[in-house]
Amino acid sequence: MDSAGGLVSDLTQHAGDPVLVVNAGSSSLKYELLAAGDGTRMARGAVERIGEDGGAQAEAWHETSRSRHETSDACADHHAAMDIALRAFATHGPRLEQAGLVGVVHRVVHGGDRFVDPVVIDPDVLAAIEALVPLAPLHNPANLDGIRAAQAALPDLTHVAVFDTAFHHTLPAAASTFAVPRPWRQQWGVRRYGFHGPSHAYVARRTAALLGRDPADCKLVVLHLGNGASACAVDGGRSVDTSMGLSPLDGLVMGTRPGWLDPAVAGHLARLAGMSIDEFDHALAHDCGLQGLCGHNDFRAVMDACRDGDPDADLAVEIVVHRLVGVTGAYAATLGRLDAIAFTAGIGEHAADLRAAVLDRLGIFGVELDVAANAAASGETRITTTKSAVAAYVVPTNEAWEMARSALTVLTR
Ligand code: ADP
Repeated sequence: MDSAGGLVSDLTQHAGDPVLVVNAGSSSLKYELLAAGDGTRMARGAVERIGEDGGAQAEAWHETSRSRHETSDACADHHAAMDIALRAFATHGPRLEQAGLVGVVHRVVHGGDRFVDPVVIDPDVLAAIEALVPLAPLHNPANLDGIRAAQAALPDLTHVAVFDTAFHHTLPAAASTFAVPRPWRQQWGVRRYGFHGPSHAYVARRTAALLGRDPADCKLVVLHLGNGASACAVDGGRSVDTSMGLSPLDGLVMGTRPGWLDPAVAGHLARLAGMSIDEFDHALAHDCGLQGLCGHNDFRAVMDACRDGDPDADLAVEIVVHRLVGVTGAYAATLGRLDAIAFTAGIGEHAADLRAAVLDRLGIFGVELDVAANAAASGETRITTTKSAVAAYVVPTNEAWEMARSALTVLTR
């Protein structure tokens, strides 16, 4: 349990700008209480398996700087999940009513063309996020559920939406435009939007700092490799190309999503296998990627299978490496120069063998891996030698802090 004294000193120290960051997925609600200014985390937690088993058994955890608590609770929806989260704060601390919260910040996956900056949530914004549901049918509805639950539970606070797509609003038309008929683009919003914006923004800024350079002078490739994965070319702090597209299905091989796929596959399977659009959509989200290639969606399990001699797992990793090398090379050419490559998220931060395989094949750019540094990397680490023409780093991402920081622009106005 937190001691009251420790809690008060935590809160006094960071009284300026504590925010609660909420990330609501279809069956989870993750939250983090942190100081937006310096990123100090005061608590974080999650309610998982919301609404599963008829809402019978959600699992929740809540962690402060001193302790971790786990519970199982009935939880039918995001309102019940928010209640569980607030109870955890009341029981285990820090007490939200004493935290001096300046606002609640919500992750929203799709902002379409409309949202390119954080925005205070009002009924008009809620309606606009709702209108974007067709662009992100799996994500925006869950994000809206989380927002509504938090607004109902914390009605006196300002709620801000931060969009995954926003960082990529700087994509040049050549990178964002698909070669499709004008009505598809103008009427139906068919274009590359890009996702993982807070992660790419945060990692790009940290990478520039590690290089000791002004972000405005850096040309970077950020590889966000988690269950979802995307690459981003960052020029002078701005996204100039990214691998996810209209949806987060595009680009790299992911846990259960295929990434780049010939568009003809949809019609081919409809005609030959009688697959409906809904079946195809479902398979793209759940049955492809690593899962489809070797039966494991979790990269650790894929690596275990490789060690056990499973040829399907070997091929899956080869495809992952092939795409990462290809996208990094393409982005280097697009950028016209490459200063650094940054690896982040669960796989990027932890899978040293994968990083080595990718960097070894980027020798054409003068990349020279520091084998020992790569194997031992923990936290922010340079993993190329001092002679390497292009630096590479492991940079743990911090999406919650980036969201909180960016939301301050509207919270403190
Ligand atoms: P999410 O997109 O859900 O936030 P994460 O960033 O947590 O995903 O990344 C999850 C992925 O990271 C999983 O595929 C997991 O296997 C992988 N991962 C986590 N730890 C390691 C590790 N030590 N070695 C290799 N892969 C890891």
